[in-house]
Amino acid sequence: MINVTKPFLPPYQEYEKLVEGIWKRNWLTNNGPLVNDLEIKLKDYLNLDHLSYVSNGTIALQIAIKALDLKGEIITTPFSYVATTSSIVWENCTPIFVDIDPLSFNINHKLIEQAITKKTSAILATHVYGNPCAIDEIEAIAKKHQLKVIYDAAHCFGTTYKGESVLKFGDISTISFHATKLYHTTEGGAIITTDPKILKSITYLRNFGHVDSETFSGIGINGKNSEFHAAMGVCNLKYADHILEKRKEDHKRYDECLNQLELQKPLIAQKAGYNHAYYPIVFNSEQDCINVSNELNKNLIYARRYFYPILSNLDYVNSSPMPIAEDISKRILCLPLYEQITPEEIDMICRIILRTLRY
Ligand SMILES: *Cc1c(COP(=O)(O)O)cnc(C)c1O
Repeated sequence: MINVTKPFLPPYQEYEKLVEGIWKRNWLTNNGPLVNDLEIKLKDYLNLDHLSYVSNGTIALQIAIKALDLKGEIITTPFSYVATTSSIVWENCTPIFVDIDPLSFNINHKLIEQAITKKTSAILATHVYGNPCAIDEIEAIAKKHQLKVIYDAAHCFGTTYKGESVLKFGDISTISFHATKLYHTTEGGAIITTDPKILKSITYLRNFGHVDSETFSGIGINGKNSEFHAAMGVCNLKYADHILEKRKEDHKRYDECLNQLELQKPLIAQKAGYNHAYYPIVFNSEQDCINVSNELNKNLIYARRYFYPILSNLDYVNSSPMPIAEDISKRILCLPLYEQITPEEIDMICRIILRTLRY
């Protein structure tokens, strides 16, 4: 079976060695030495000044909304994973959907201003598939209207923008280290901000608001992560360069094999160093997309209609129609991409796609 993704696992002995240390120290969670070590190593690897490691990418978004004290309406994209929208609603704000750009599949910055009202407090945009949004344009709009910006950078491990980590942009960026992501810590995520005041607030928010054992700085939640998760993260980080390089090669192979189909793929931002996190292709029709998906399934290959359906159709939100997102979402398929996939498997997947579309 070939799934759309398969978690990377480091050599077992390397993980075991770190787990031995956990046993010796008998320190399992609450800002332990491995969590600290991972934060430092991730900061170095990603070239960041600060990074707050948390239990997952969803709590990272929710803490981000809390840390910026957002209220009212948050402008967001319909083309993302459900957590982007659910975290807005969970934090008692209203998502206002703005359609996506037909080439990048990221929020269309040209449509943002017309969605701003007196109640708008922020823009929450996703760098879809690890491809940066129109960051400069969004920043200009936010400045003009005094809005905060959060980037859901869940897919962005290793992506750069203008030579810097894309995680440095916006008031806050969040990332996921879930097992299915390019780099993972089993479950996990992080919050990144360059503002020391927000950073301080995040430190309290992720740990129940504890200042010390008896005093609290406002409301908080349990957003901590454990030594076991950090151990996985420390092990996997050694392989991050290799994983990124392998993804790039796999992309090239898919590109070469599928070239003759001339199918649409997301247009990668010009100033981006792309991480090749996913391999999405847009078919000419929804029927083509479904046919290919079914044909792959018959061969025990599972691509994923990602993102499908769009978030503006969730039954707990209201939205005007989002024709571009609707259209792309119906025709897009993410092909299998993970560290262990072989060139032969990629070739086989491509042959099935070509055969199904009768080339
Ligand atoms: C994976 C993902 C999340 C959620 O991250 P978790 O770590 O699974 O909670 C949020 N947004 C996007 C775009 C994602 O892909």
